[in-house]
Amino acid sequence: MIAQSSTICTSQIFTGIYSSPYRHHRPFRHHRFSRYRSSFRHRKSDIVIQTPLHDKVSANVSKIIDISSPLKSSPKQSCKYEDLSIAQFIRFLKQIKLKKLLSKIIDVRQQNKISYKNDVILQWALTVYFFRQGSCNALQTSLQKLKPNKRTAILKYLGLLEDEIDSFPHRTVVNDCLGRIEADEVNELLIHLFNWAKKSKIFYNHMPKLLSYDIFHICIDGFSVHKYDTPHAVNEKKKNICPYCLPRRHNKGKKNEVTYWMHGFVNVTIVFSGGLQLPLYVYPLKASQIKLEGSASDEELKQESELQAAKMILPILKEKLGKLPVALLTDSLYANEPLIKLCEDLGWDYLIVRQEGSLKTIRRKCDELEGCELYQQSYRAHETIKLKNGNTIERTVKWFNGVTIGKKSYTNVLRFEEIVKDADGNSIKKKYFKTEWLCSKEINKGNCFSLVKRGRMRADHEDLHNSLKNRGFAAKHDYSRANSNAWLVWKILMFVAFGIFELFSFTTLAQKSKGPSSWIAFAKDLLSELLKIPWEIIALSPSLKKEKIQFRFNFSP
Ligand SMILES: [Zn+2]
Repeated sequence: MIAQSSTICTSQIFTGIYSSPYRHHRPFRHHRFSRYRSSFRHRKSDIVIQTPLHDKVSANVSKIIDISSPLKSSPKQSCKYEDLSIAQFIRFLKQIKLKKLLSKIIDVRQQNKISYKNDVILQWALTVYFFRQGSCNALQTSLQKLKPNKRTAILKYLGLLEDEIDSFPHRTVVNDCLGRIEADEVNELLIHLFNWAKKSKIFYNHMPKLLSYDIFHICIDGFSVHKYDTPHAVNEKKKNICPYCLPRRHNKGKKNEVTYWMHGFVNVTIVFSGGLQLPLYVYPLKASQIKLEGSASDEELKQESELQAAKMILPILKEKLGKLPVALLTDSLYANEPLIKLCEDLGWDYLIVRQEGSLKTIRRKCDELEGCELYQQSYRAHETIKLKNGNTIERTVKWFNGVTIGKKSYTNVLRFEEIVKDADGNSIKKKYFKTEWLCSKEINKGNCFSLVKRGRMRADHEDLHNSLKNRGFAAKHDYSRANSNAWLVWKILMFVAFGIFELFSFTTLAQKSKGPSSWIAFAKDLLSELLKIPWEIIALSPSLKKEKIQFRFNFSP
């Protein structure tokens, strides 16, 4: 009965080939998919039934058979297939022109000696992060297990079939290639991604949610990732040749002397009020740039290296971002005159946390003013918020404008205190919060609480680092131990993968497809779909079939 009617999609011919083996296929992650069994969701163009994977395949197949029914005579009504999540993701990658961006990265390998192009290898590496594999070995193992007749989908996804290649690059080939790539070219991908979002008017169209303060908030923070007890990359004389190893020595000359090496970098990310986070730049810390004794504490090392990095990175970013209105959000490490002067020179606003110990003259001056009657009456504000659970939040802001820092610069100081009380009026200790910011903007009753909200957005950046460490990206795994450049490229690709997946996760399609499960589970399921569903079935998804598609974004909490 197949292919008898002229209204049948050409893709129908695959029905006979793929329907039978999958009827007997055991469902994977059954516990997750079973939640969707029989739940119908109406989408703009079709009705989707979320089912376990083996059912998804047979559902698509049965829909193919349905189309051949003589009752459906109009060809326009045909092809109502389930829009598979992996198809949506593949279409999204096409939308951001990932392949084109990756193929622009310079490949220094001898072209007549290579089997896999640069862009294929880079996408292979990104795949490890997209689908939260935790290591290159994990992806390698999944691919090795695939029988030749099940490879089409992932070969298609990686763009290998276009080059008529039916095998996957081995992880050693991937590492070798990444080791030869210029790290800053990979950093450029982050800027491209931001520019793509800007050009696609995502920020403009969602201005009230994303840019509620009419300014882009850029966070800068350090991120330590590895600690090695022995040098991990050495020359023939066993000398450490890794430029990113920051040597640490404790108890020098004593019996309990300890030496180890650390890796870390400084990351710059744009955080938006709607929760979106887009990494912009990754800068690895280098031992050669830091003028500190090896015996300095890890904290001193972190501070010195991050400050050095900020001085180098921020002017580079200014050049890349041009006239974009920017406010820099930082922790207390950056509470110093040179950094404030740098922000002024760049024309950027700032909100910098000041803690005990930094800029003590500012603290003394503000303590003094705080005691004055005028300040107590006119330079403070309170707000009380009743929560649904009966708790109350009490916030107090005190401010001091035009406080001198050093000889030339001035700043404005905002002191903030938040007390949360339970229904009986008792303070909840764990929720007590107190901080102080240095602000470029003059503070007044009208803007003081919005400045607090903006300053607190820095917590989202900490959350990003937390996601990279604990939510499937395995940031603490070094990915390439012996090749320092490959290590760095792997790390920057981790941020690139985060940024791409972050944007995808705010599309309405991805949000509906994910349902109530976690993003990690959803990401892992995307790979399972790619490995277990034949390409011909994936290709029937509307997201891949439609000539034009516009991803809609949703930034509501
Ligand atoms: Zn190293």
